[in-house]
Amino acid sequence: MAGLQTYRAKRDFDVTAEPRGRVAPRTSRQLRFVIQRHAATRLHFDLRLELDGVYKSWAVTKVPSVDPATKRLAVEVEDHPLEYGKFEGTIPKGQYGGGTVQLWDRGTWRPKSDNPERDLAKGMLKFELSGKRMHGGWALIRMRDDPRKRTGNPRHNWLLVKERDDAAHPGDPEALSSEDTSVATGRTLDEIASSKRSRVWNSDRANGGDSVKRVSARATATGKLKKNRTPAVRKPRK
Ligand code: MN
Repeated sequence: MAGLQTYRAKRDFDVTAEPRGRVAPRTSRQLRFVIQRHAATRLHFDLRLELDGVYKSWAVTKVPSVDPATKRLAVEVEDHPLEYGKFEGTIPKGQYGGGTVQLWDRGTWRPKSDNPERDLAKGMLKFELSGKRMHGGWALIRMRDDPRKRTGNPRHNWLLVKERDDAAHPGDPEALSSEDTSVATGRTLDEIASSKRSRVWNSDRANGGDSVKRVSARATATGKLKKNRTPAVRKPRK
């Protein structure tokens, strides 16, 4: 089900610069995809495919393999807003997903069937990617859930597999591992992490929350400090 409740519940948008986002209205243009390289507790690759106004998302545990014989584990995660596809920066320590996020690939994708929602529900999605680094046919195949590991909110494990085509590199699963810069800014993860721009506090909260805190956070982000007289030292909050 397309919704952002889980995405929002996991994040404090007064602290992280990630977008709060919204479910986008249906449009007729091409579907987007993005892969974000994410130096969290463990380095992983977040694959996001636009569908029904959100990004369906998987955390791929290693660099995507362009060798059809080498499958990658892709852990299903919560739907993300389409605005997330522009996010590159640092999620503060202690926040959900804390670490540096790099835009590693982006472009458009096309399902091979006329009903990708049904394909996902059945656990077998075949698709084409037209990105800067990822090309051609790919498949996401859901694995059988292990009933012994079932908890209140089970995460489905999938496999990301390259199809055999001209974009495949048989025998060279790590072919893309030398690609370590951002497709948006050319920066490495270290350069993103040390950038001051990545550390701007931000809040796109449209309603709710503490309005005073919200105004001052926005003023700080845009440099308009005159009216709010934000104290130089932030007092600890309780
Ligand atoms: Mn991630």
